Amino acid sequence: LPVRLLHARGAGLGLALLLIGCAGPSSPHGYGPWEGERAASHIPAPDLSVTDVLGPVSGQGMEEMRRLDHQRDTVAIRLRRAFILVETGRHTLARTELNRLLFSQTPPSVPVEAFARYIRARSYAATGEADRAQADLERATALATASDLRTLIAAERPAAAPAPTPPVAAAPRVDLAFLPRSGWGARAPVDSRMVPMGRVFRLTVHHSGLLAGRGASDESAAAISSIQKTHMGGNGWGDIGYHYLIDPDGRVWQGRPVQWQGAHAGDPERNRGNIGICLLGNFVRGRDGQEPPPAQLRALQQLVVGFCRQYGIPAAGIYTHREMRVTTCPGEHLQLAVERLRRSLDGLAQASGG
Ligand SMILES: [Zn+2]
Repeated sequence: LPVRLLHARGAGLGLALLLIGCAGPSSPHGYGPWEGERAASHIPAPDLSVTDVLGPVSGQGMEEMRRLDHQRDTVAIRLRRAFILVETGRHTLARTELNRLLFSQTPPSVPVEAFARYIRARSYAATGEADRAQADLERATALATASDLRTLIAAERPAAAPAPTPPVAAAPRVDLAFLPRSGWGARAPVDSRMVPMGRVFRLTVHHSGLLAGRGASDESAAAISSIQKTHMGGNGWGDIGYHYLIDPDGRVWQGRPVQWQGAHAGDPERNRGNIGICLLGNFVRGRDGQEPPPAQLRALQQLVVGFCRQYGIPAAGIYTHREMRVTTCPGEHLQLAVERLRRSLDGLAQASGG
């Protein structure tokens, strides 16, 4: 079944709310530099807003496209161009433009990705690729900080069972092994403070935000134990918030058992069906940060590939914390690594016809 999508007008309100909810739609507004024809220049350049990006397209959009060509290249213009291409049936061009926005060296901001995912979902729906449309809508939903947008998009999904999403089928088989909770001296959880996990359909990658040493086993155990103390004592949670923790040496430690919903993504709605994976270390750029060591990244990849297979999670179901809410977690270094991983898994799923 093709996914029914919102009309641009209907999406308007929700996306507007999304933008209000974000850190700030601070795209510089106003008139582009006078680079193009004078006749075109008195029309303001599109802003990163629902009205400008998803507004109605007149005719084949040729007139507007010509005008955009003469304005300064901004993300709002690129999104608008992609939207016109989708609305006028030029899907290949539209997706090239959108993929460039989504997978560039510099990751898109949260509002830009939400727009891009939403527009790409319309394109997939128009060409009958319901699974991919669904995956993009799910992602747009997760990026939406305003609950109104999530509700709005949810209302557009098929009422019956969700369309199957392409699992990462072609990925190599891995055997997952975890160090037990006893290995880091876990305190007993308080079950009454937790809720059961339900169906797993996504996962989120974090960093601990604390510089990690060389990865000696006892150091890692102490670090994990101290995270649990903060989560249970300071935050009053039922257990450590993450389900798995990976140390610099690539050991994977069992955190909160997956039968319980985690406490890591921001709120109960974001934690729903969401496995939390924390890499010990601080992966921000600059003096205060560090690079994730290769052994740690290899372990992350194995873990993610394993969970994608086990739970049928599509590549679009792999998130980083900052894609869930406004935060620096998991730091730029790890953010880029996860984006690379997601691209490679997306490639595998598409190559296998998923
Ligand atoms: Zn985090």
